Amino acid sequence: MRYLVLTDIHANLEALDTCLSHAAEQRFDQTLVLGDLVGYGPNPNEVIERIGALSPVAMIRGNHDKVACGLEQPEGFNAVARRAALWTLEMLTAANRTWLAALPKGPVIVDDMIQICHGSPIDEDAYLFDELDAVRALKMSQRPLCLFGHTHYPVTFALVEGRVDTIGGPNSLDGPLMLLDGSKYLLNPGAVGQPRDGDARAGYAIADTTARRVDLFRLDYPIEATQAKIVKAGLPEVLAQRLAVGR
Ligand code: ZN
Repeated sequence: MRYLVLTDIHANLEALDTCLSHAAEQRFDQTLVLGDLVGYGPNPNEVIERIGALSPVAMIRGNHDKVACGLEQPEGFNAVARRAALWTLEMLTAANRTWLAALPKGPVIVDDMIQICHGSPIDEDAYLFDELDAVRALKMSQRPLCLFGHTHYPVTFALVEGRVDTIGGPNSLDGPLMLLDGSKYLLNPGAVGQPRDGDARAGYAIADTTARRVDLFRLDYPIEATQAKIVKAGLPEVLAQRLAVGR
């Protein structure tokens, strides 16, 4: 099975469409979405409709999704994130708000090999930044490959022969990650719609459970088009600026 893995799209339609065209050439069987479809970006309804059309086999909510559909208040959000979340709440159609509110909480088990979560397999809102965070999460994950998002930072933590190691990061996407038998992995493919690792390109992954490999991709997309929409929508301009630098 080849899974298209998308996370942290954040209502960025240009980045999503670029990933979807590229992924169609790579071929995939099913789609997994790890949350934060909306928030920050200018096209929440269009992104929800694109994702809905893919009929993902597994999908979970992110922290921005919860606020944008009114399930939670933007309490832990900074001023910019809060403004964007409340703008999204106002912009979403009633049908899309209901659709978003129905997204399940992670973690969700996909098959024998894969589990998905937004933040961590222990807590949907927790951030996995380093090996210290990863140790417990690796032990708690219920499948060899746990896919996560939330940090907008592509990275893989591996538990191989009892040792935790960090693989990948912004400069080491040269080859696929091969999944060794008996090892466990936590993998973040990086954000589709708002990268924060200093690389402005959209990120996504294809996980192949038969070949036991994950391929990570970074793609240029028409950032200026998204930026213009953000400004026109009256969203905070810093959200447009950060897309160009990937921070
Ligand atoms: Zn996010």
